[in-house]
Amino acid sequence: MVQFTATAAGSAEAFQVDSANVVYTADHIDSTYVYRDSKVVRTDDAKLTVVPTEKTYHFRTSRKVPRVGLMMVGWGGNNGSTLTASIIANRQKISWRTKEGVQTPNYYGSVTQASTLKLGVDEKGQDVFIPFSDILPMVHPNDLVLGGWDISAHNLGAAMERAQVLEYDLQRQVRKEMDTLQPLPSIYYPDYIAANQSDRADNVLPGTKAEHLEKIRKDIREFKANNKLDKVIVLWTANTERFSAIIPGVNDTADALLASIQNGHDEVAPSTIFAVACILEKTPFVNGSPQNTFVPGCVELASREKVYIGGDDFKSGQTKFKSVMVDFLVNAGIKPIGITSYNHLGNNDGKNLSAPQQFRSKEISKSNVVDDMVAANPILYKKNEHPDHIVVIKYCPAVGDSKRALDEYVSEIFMGGRNTISTYNVCEDSLLASPLILDLAIITELMTRIEYRTEDMEEYSPFHAVLSVLSYMLKAPMVPPGTPVVNALSKQRAAMENIFRACVGLPPQNDMMLEHRAI
Ligand code: NAD
Repeated sequence: MVQFTATAAGSAEAFQVDSANVVYTADHIDSTYVYRDSKVVRTDDAKLTVVPTEKTYHFRTSRKVPRVGLMMVGWGGNNGSTLTASIIANRQKISWRTKEGVQTPNYYGSVTQASTLKLGVDEKGQDVFIPFSDILPMVHPNDLVLGGWDISAHNLGAAMERAQVLEYDLQRQVRKEMDTLQPLPSIYYPDYIAANQSDRADNVLPGTKAEHLEKIRKDIREFKANNKLDKVIVLWTANTERFSAIIPGVNDTADALLASIQNGHDEVAPSTIFAVACILEKTPFVNGSPQNTFVPGCVELASREKVYIGGDDFKSGQTKFKSVMVDFLVNAGIKPIGITSYNHLGNNDGKNLSAPQQFRSKEISKSNVVDDMVAANPILYKKNEHPDHIVVIKYCPAVGDSKRALDEYVSEIFMGGRNTISTYNVCEDSLLASPLILDLAIITELMTRIEYRTEDMEEYSPFHAVLSVLSYMLKAPMVPPGTPVVNALSKQRAAMENIFRACVGLPPQNDMMLEHRAI
């Protein structure tokens, strides 16, 4: 097996595509791509007619990787402090001692940084792999400028200590730099997060909702100017909020939502104010928590302003596994009839989720994850039939950030038999979530540099404002209104990979391997 290719001579990219459909200019990679699909028509006698379709897309990707800032809301939390310390360790190549020996920093768990994709086959018929991050020019995590907000005044050094995630010997070495990083004061509406969080809210903005919106906008502008950034991405990794009620005239349209912020309506969450501030500052915003930050008015505003939004809820552990397991079972012709998931965790996220309304947000985001896979197999499931699906989350301080997930999958197999699979996963939650934050930021930034044009469009355009290409990293992926949700992990990854391949004029990865079979 051939490993990584060398960087193509004279270019910033790891490879160049030699094709009439791909043009490299000083600033762009231009590709002409024929998207092939199948259109199915149902005839009156319930028969299906399938017509292969073709549509030509022109993709234009800016080659210049900009200077990027990542601002995290909830910077002083377990995820925010863990990610920050880990980037410092990677940047400075800091090793630390554990009882197992010396550990060096890495970006394991990040699709862009630690996974590969098959570029093609060499002259000997061997697969050639490249790092995922080499498919198109992407920002490197070490180059991200970090900042953000927290309702807790702890500096990042104290926040890292409070999180109890990283080994002491690593904390010791990054502490000095971490102590210099101070989260900006944030928006705190006590009704939105659990009451048990009130004792850490000592860094909060005074004023009205309208003033909060203006302050967050100013913070983004100042962060960008002070750090000489080309672009900023903002990501919510703060506490899970309760759901907002969708009320006609309050948050159902963009104008209603903007008016509700001006008149201080109770049903506008802090996360929605952040999202609106970002959209108005032309800054992409990603929601890593489960609440419905993106109320319909917020989605309309993002579409109107052509600013990317993505969410919801990091898909880090149990749900990621579930979106693999159920995909496997259903595609194997096995019928899951009962999925039961128990979690216990002892970090501050678990404490916040011990309140009923915040748990409810998480329960909703975890509950729909198998729907598309079930709906795709009418041999196993009748219309509207679903497996029983139960999610329980309990706060158990003793286990700290090391979350336990116990799952049971009961399936119906051949001739009425039963198959029960039980899994038990133990993992530091924040070490799973932190690399996802990187991928979300890096891919969102990349998407701001890709435009497309079809034959009937005069100008290049960005993709739809709702960035469904981020689905791989998200538990309850948002998609453009009226379009299908895909939860199956392998499909989500294939979509990312194949869209990026199309941008360099390469066909989708098809795994047919005809060169090895039809010989
Ligand atoms: P955490 O409680 O350690 O950190 C959240 C931080 O947000 C805290 O420091 C808190 O003070 C701050 N905060 C709360 N409200 C705020 C506001 N309005 N503005 C700014 N800061 C605010 O939690 P965590 O473990 O870092 O997880 C963060 C979020 O990510 C949670 O909502 C969690 O549900 C979600 N999530 C985490 C994982 C994972 O860690 N594996 C997976 C999926 C989703």
